[in-house]
Amino acid sequence: MSIKQEVARRRTFAIISHPDAGKTTLTEKLLLFAGAIQIAGSVKARKASRHAASDWMEIEKQRGISVASSVMQMEYRDCVLNLLDTPGHQDFSEDTYRVLTAVDAALMVIDAANGVEPQTIRLLQVCRARNTPIITFINKLDREVREPLDLLSEIEAHLGMDAVPFSWPVGMGRAFGGVFDIRRDRMRVFKAGQERRGAEDEIIDGRDNPAIAERFGDAYAQAREEIDLIEAAAQPFDHAAFLAGRQTPVFFGSAINNFGVQEVLDALVELAPKPGPRAALEREVQPDEPRFSGVVFKVQANMDPAHRDRVAFLRVSSGRFERGMRLKVSRTGKEIRPNNVVSFLSQRRELLDEAYAGDVIGIPNHGVLQLGDVLTEGENLQFTGLPFFAPELFQAVEVKDPLRTKQLRTGLTQLGEEGAIQVFKPAAAGGALLLGAIGQLQFEVVAHRLKTEYGVDARLMPSRYNMARWITSDDPKALRKFLDSNAANIAYDVVDAVAFLASSPAQLRVAAELYPAVHFHAMREHG
Ligand code: GDP
Repeated sequence: MSIKQEVARRRTFAIISHPDAGKTTLTEKLLLFAGAIQIAGSVKARKASRHAASDWMEIEKQRGISVASSVMQMEYRDCVLNLLDTPGHQDFSEDTYRVLTAVDAALMVIDAANGVEPQTIRLLQVCRARNTPIITFINKLDREVREPLDLLSEIEAHLGMDAVPFSWPVGMGRAFGGVFDIRRDRMRVFKAGQERRGAEDEIIDGRDNPAIAERFGDAYAQAREEIDLIEAAAQPFDHAAFLAGRQTPVFFGSAINNFGVQEVLDALVELAPKPGPRAALEREVQPDEPRFSGVVFKVQANMDPAHRDRVAFLRVSSGRFERGMRLKVSRTGKEIRPNNVVSFLSQRRELLDEAYAGDVIGIPNHGVLQLGDVLTEGENLQFTGLPFFAPELFQAVEVKDPLRTKQLRTGLTQLGEEGAIQVFKPAAAGGALLLGAIGQLQFEVVAHRLKTEYGVDARLMPSRYNMARWITSDDPKALRKFLDSNAANIAYDVVDAVAFLASSPAQLRVAAELYPAVHFHAMREHG
């Protein structure tokens, strides 16, 4: 197959949701329907063992995989699907956000009883900022849940985009009869499913088919009315609007019952975009150009802290990756020749031999590769857009033994570069270094890694800050004045970008009002 054909059949997407909406269950069922696994339970088991084991924190910290957003690859209908997980719960971290920069689409899972929940909203903001197309799956229709029309308007309000139902539920909870496929004008009758794929579902054609009305009574009468309403009032689906992040197709189902999963898989193949061009500072890189390029969007410490092994997760941007090929790291000019590259194809365990744009590969290394690094066959490229998000949690850090101050700085610089945490140096003399994070667990992992990898006993202390904004201005004088008058709240990050730290949204608002010439950014791009 040519590179062009390989690229055309790839779909790379992240699955996002609030904890407990059913992300793990849906992930498993996608693997099941794609034929990548025979019995659901493997992903679940991994999740359960991670959270049930009382010492999971310890294990996670030792491995430094507190932030393990995993990658799964599967083949379905001649397409190669790359599914990137985004952890929720206490695992939530900056990595979660950065994963979204490595995908071309997102699959949003919503619990029909709860609607759009906070964790989803944070992730959606990143998708919105990047105009990532979103496919919506509304889960748990086998329960007593909220009215589908209400859910639709809530999604529209939070996403700021039109929700276009592709299917519509007939009843819910005990009276859940199935979903009506609006486009194909047929109903898939609900049947509870299990860990395996069952026999073919029962399908009844035609919305005016008296057999449906008779069998599902009031539930169908209501559904029918709502479908008519939607068709009269809602925007028709427009593929271009979906690709631009202005419309989301919506599917209803019950992941645990294998119900509605097929439609989602088909939508990923039919609607989600193939990998597109990526902007580098030098030029636009096309996915099907012959020469390889890729960017590191995540670095994960490996099993053995003593050896400082890291696995760099790289999204292929162009060309063909082959095991053992020579690659150049743009930042340093160093050459590497990765041989034991990790792939994520769940049905096969062997080493990866080749990969194309959209695929994710894992390259074990000893610190040669950093977050944001670009690998090429020789060309110098710098991709834009690997974001750093303003931290929401802060702690001051000090070393218990002052003789180890240097080690603390080295450790924090390296962990900062790796993206494990953000490090801020206050502008005011004598201030302790500040650590900024998005998830609480990041602090614990960093303290643990400082100790095991750098021999530093760090003391973490509460900080009065809980917001940061990177600041810029086109007017150097105004910027100078702002920095001088707010010296107590100014700090510099690991690449010396200047930030304003605030203890409340009100403080930030006042600063912004007083200094209209200064711009406040919640996100900084790498590079
Ligand atoms: P995650 O935290 O988003 O990964 O959610 P899980 O996949 O672990 O699901 C959370 C809980 O919801 C589990 O107890 C699942 O068994 C349950 N669940 C998932 N899908 C469904 C569904 O379609 N119907 C019902 N009733 N429960 C579900």
